[in-house]
Amino acid sequence: MKYCPKCASELISRAEGGRDRLACSACDYVYFGDFSIGVGGVVIRDGKALLIRRGQEPRRGWWQIPGGYCEHDESIHEAVAREVLEEAGIHARVENVLGLRHSLGAPSANVYVIFRLTPLAGDPRADGEEITGAGFFSLDEIASMDKVQSLSKWAINAALSRSDGFVHVGEPGDLARPGYTLFGLPPD
Ligand SMILES: [Zn+2]
Repeated sequence: MKYCPKCASELISRAEGGRDRLACSACDYVYFGDFSIGVGGVVIRDGKALLIRRGQEPRRGWWQIPGGYCEHDESIHEAVAREVLEEAGIHARVENVLGLRHSLGAPSANVYVIFRLTPLAGDPRADGEEITGAGFFSLDEIASMDKVQSLSKWAINAALSRSDGFVHVGEPGDLARPGYTLFGLPPD
């Protein structure tokens, strides 16, 4: 990378946060590396969890919780609700965060945020191409299914065995700033 993606000026090497990094010679852009954010949603209805079956590689034919990548200009809780609707046809509201998975592998370092959602409307449906199956399944049913992603099983177990999590607090008081969303435990 030679030129700034924001203003197209030449990138130079500059000490920034304890390392030499590529940085713009004209604006405030600093290249911190390739990162992506993934989101996954555990949606529980009547004690059953929503799973979708992947219609495309990688892991075609495997069942997992719905999810995908967050756009750079999209809040993560909006991203997961969008993916749940796109992949499974379920309108749902984010309740809290069940866990995070950080991975340093290709194609970029990734943080995958797993949310718990409450279904509001809709019935599971698959588009037949990207997604070839969608439905709510009990733990017993999931245990008898082939090819269920282990992280999805972990997240579903977490959601069904406890009610707490990192709550989406929104924009409380003096923390309210455009583009910021705080997730944290509520005060006692
Ligand atoms: Zn620049």
